[in-house]
Amino acid sequence: MANLRQLFLQHLAQTSATPLMLEIERAEGMYLYAPGGKAYLDLIAGIGVSCLGHRHPQVIEAITAQLGKYLHTLVYGEFVLAPQVRLAELLARHLPDTLNSIFFVNSGAEATEGAMKLAKRHTGRYEVAACKKAYHGSTQGAASLMWPKDFTQAFHPLLPGIRHIEYNSEEGLQQITERTAAVIVETVQGEWGIRPPADGYLQKLRRRCTETGALLVLDEIQAGYGRTGALFAFEQYGITPDILLLAKGMGGGMPIGAFIASRDVMGSLSFDPVLGHITTFGGHPVSCAAALATLETLLQSSLIQQVKAKEKLFLELLRHPAIVEVRSAGLWVAVELESFETVQAVIRHCLDAGLITDWFLFNERSLRIAPPLIITEEQIRWACGVILEGIEKYGS
Ligand code: PLP
Repeated sequence: MANLRQLFLQHLAQTSATPLMLEIERAEGMYLYAPGGKAYLDLIAGIGVSCLGHRHPQVIEAITAQLGKYLHTLVYGEFVLAPQVRLAELLARHLPDTLNSIFFVNSGAEATEGAMKLAKRHTGRYEVAACKKAYHGSTQGAASLMWPKDFTQAFHPLLPGIRHIEYNSEEGLQQITERTAAVIVETVQGEWGIRPPADGYLQKLRRRCTETGALLVLDEIQAGYGRTGALFAFEQYGITPDILLLAKGMGGGMPIGAFIASRDVMGSLSFDPVLGHITTFGGHPVSCAAALATLETLLQSSLIQQVKAKEKLFLELLRHPAIVEVRSAGLWVAVELESFETVQAVIRHCLDAGLITDWFLFNERSLRIAPPLIITEEQIRWACGVILEGIEKYGS
């Protein structure tokens, strides 16, 4: 009988020629465990997912309780289901008044797709602007927003009417016009290797959208739920988007996403045509129960308040002549090294030592650090020690 790793290569569709191939037997808190018991400290939280760590007891309790009641009942939006309603109400209570209508989906890409359709339907326009080197998902609408085109060329034609603007650029703002239905921007650009907005940029972007009637869509799918030091990253910039995108971290390890707007804007999706945007599994009761427990647990804890101090510790520790630059936005850090080869060698060194890191989709020279928010000071010190050892060994 072939072993699991052989069967993985034989029967699972591959997304690259070089999968990590680490077999995981179980996960708990900050750690993933391989068969035989080797522990790996998770410094990337499943790419921005496990804010509370793996299998947080309150999340597991909520999932277990929901399993005893019902799973799927009917397509999204028909039955009154307590986990969905309670989650929507709690989210609305912690968001500005104008973000009070929540459409649950299954993933980040679906949240992007929903927002694009909503903006087109609401404004009657079809052009959408997105920033270069932003990532909003891999489905065809979301992939249309992707630039550089190397990632999408093989799948053209994608959506017409997409304008790629420079992030943090005044010139880019002038490309937003009365024909623009929506501008989709990550509050902090993640996959470009953590690029926070320049001073005043988001405020100017907000103003330009208001002037032109374009809807401002902020993608906090990866920033979401505390990673940047605020529950929602946009809170730190004194602006409110017209549509907010969430996924990843919101489910505590279960698949869920959402696009959120005002009742007025969201209302456009319920007529002309009726059922113009629907989903079978969106807002699955078990995912909603997990997401509700995740949000409640985060709000009851001081984890978000601790983010800035933990970020500071990373920045203090991550010093080495071979480090080109360190950029950060809370517990979301990019360590830029001189080449992809160095980054790969450091990642492999970390893995051997029991530490999981990664690089970024649009920045292969940067090492990704985005741990669960529960990471302790001791774990930060240990992880930085291992990374520095790798940099000392492979950086020049
Ligand atoms: N938006 C951002 C900022 C992301 O980082 C991602 C995923 O990495 C997505 C959207 C797409 O989310 P999903 O992979 O759940 O479709």
